[in-house]
Amino acid sequence: MRPLRSAAGLLALAVLALTACNRDAAPAAEPAAPPAQAAAVDRDEHSYAEPDKVVTEDLALDIALDFDAKTIAGTATYTLQWTDQAATQLVLDTRDLTISKVEGEAAGGQWQPLQYALADADATLGSKLTIETPERNAKVRVTYVTSPDASGLQWLTPEMTEGKQLPFMFSQSQQIHARSWVPLQDTPAIRYTYTAHVTARPDVMVLMSADNDPAAQRDGDYSFKMPQKIPSYLMAIAAGDLVFQEISGRAGVWAEPAMIDRAVAEFADTEKMIEVTEQLYGPYRWERYDLLILPPSFPYGGMENPRLSFITPTVIVGDKSLVSLIAHELAHSWSGNLVTFSSAKHGWLNEGFTSYVENRIVESLYGKEVSDMEYVIARNSLRENIASMPEGTQALAVKPDVALDADDALSAVSYDKGAWFLQFLEQRFGRENFDTFLRGYFDHFAFQSITTEQFLAYAKENLFDKFPDTVTDAEIQEWVYAPGIPGYAPQVMSRNFGIVDSARLAWLGSAQLPPRQITDAWSTQEWLHFLESLPPTLTVEQLAQLDEAYTFTGTDNGEIAMRWYPLAVRSGYTQANEALAEFTTRVGRRKLIMPIYTALVQTEAGLALAKQIFETARPGYHPITTGSVETLINEAKPAPAPAPAETPAADAAAPAPAN
Ligand SMILES: [Zn+2]
Repeated sequence: MRPLRSAAGLLALAVLALTACNRDAAPAAEPAAPPAQAAAVDRDEHSYAEPDKVVTEDLALDIALDFDAKTIAGTATYTLQWTDQAATQLVLDTRDLTISKVEGEAAGGQWQPLQYALADADATLGSKLTIETPERNAKVRVTYVTSPDASGLQWLTPEMTEGKQLPFMFSQSQQIHARSWVPLQDTPAIRYTYTAHVTARPDVMVLMSADNDPAAQRDGDYSFKMPQKIPSYLMAIAAGDLVFQEISGRAGVWAEPAMIDRAVAEFADTEKMIEVTEQLYGPYRWERYDLLILPPSFPYGGMENPRLSFITPTVIVGDKSLVSLIAHELAHSWSGNLVTFSSAKHGWLNEGFTSYVENRIVESLYGKEVSDMEYVIARNSLRENIASMPEGTQALAVKPDVALDADDALSAVSYDKGAWFLQFLEQRFGRENFDTFLRGYFDHFAFQSITTEQFLAYAKENLFDKFPDTVTDAEIQEWVYAPGIPGYAPQVMSRNFGIVDSARLAWLGSAQLPPRQITDAWSTQEWLHFLESLPPTLTVEQLAQLDEAYTFTGTDNGEIAMRWYPLAVRSGYTQANEALAEFTTRVGRRKLIMPIYTALVQTEAGLALAKQIFETARPGYHPITTGSVETLINEAKPAPAPAPAETPAADAAAPAPAN
């Protein structure tokens, strides 16, 4: 599959925390060269679509899943609204699709062939499909088949699943991968309803980001309807040995049979989360809210596909300590899915608002200390990352003259600086006033796609001018358009982390581990803070002492693994290698495994191990993960000799993740 990052971006990738869209922030990238057609300021530079001429009102899919060929084949029918009465072409985005026929519905209702041209592929954007529509047909139909290497799909053999009986497939459309499995106007600026008729082998269950029926029978023939208008990046499909269990009347879990009980127990608070968010920001508008637990190869933490969030199994750790991921994906039902950024440059409107709402949900359900710990972890990581990011990408709203790779547009800045800005506004205006404002904002822009400037104009009228002299223009400008973090940003302290800090310092000074009654009460967050605050390298004896006491090596908790294994690698603690290799082979979530690969490729011996792991793991990785690891390995510049443990290696330290 195509590497997703430019060489310049790779440097940033190697240095920075690797997380990604949806829940996992992408690594910050150097600005890429702007695509040739990027011109107008408001234009989405990641799409060939021309929404000023024509927009899709509805999409009707009639497709067949072929697990042997690893393809989707069928038709996509668009109901179009022509806003430019002089337009003569419909331009769609595609990537690696084979188009066999394009037809338009004539006034009399019969379908007639239309002329079309599929341009050579652009590495970032894919192939522009230009359809001649001199009559501006109300409906156009494209017959197509996907490539087995479609960037937005992963096809898993039965061996790669939990149950090992049936194959599995799923999509990941954000940012611009929907075009690899459906030809469409692939820009969030356009929202449309959709229906789908999907056929598949009769023993798999098919689900979509639509009205999934908890009582659906497996028969190989499924129909879906998404009556609310959504942007293309929320198109989603999955199929496999999936069973359903309910959490509440409107919420439940789809998962492989071997996973379902653990998942339902871990995510039992989902209904409570929906209720808390409704109290804050108004009714949940999407009817059902279900979770789909994907195989460990899912490249992200979660994806907020409407009505059916796609979730990594790596947050199922048995103690609900990582369920803020569910709060995050659920929050997108307001911030993102309801009010949507008009292009990836305004990504903070989705991810910053969502990270803020996520934290409010966590605070309501689990208390302020937990939400404070999560803010501290996120902001420590943001501070570390932002220092090495190019200034142009440190602003919340990326300026029009800075072009970004779509997959890199959502960095930790969008998530964590965005949430920080909203927390700043909350503190200045007071929680009650700010909650009222935010609820009004979600109502006002419901089912629309907007820019940063539209948000700011709305905020001026409904917040800033209502409570004059509460914030200055200069402060707003600095938060939104300037690099770095403003010096007056609100600070969050965690009482629990104070205890962790004392324990860590005492151990580093005296080799005396903290008493069991203290560490027995620590949650994942305290352990993450403990590990993150350690020096970049320790002695093998120190790591052995920690490992003996806390059994970090072999941990089932990916958040701990992604911090412990890089520390082990940097410190020459080779006792962890076997478990490290097992973890990195089994899990394909980029955020969790890229810090491990990044630590490995710093030395010749580590690079050899990284290559060996990748060789074994590759068939099970998602194309997005494969691209990231492949680029990292290809561009590695390992130190000629293995770094001894006593060498200070601060510059080789893999930083903390963004969330
Ligand atoms: Zn998100």
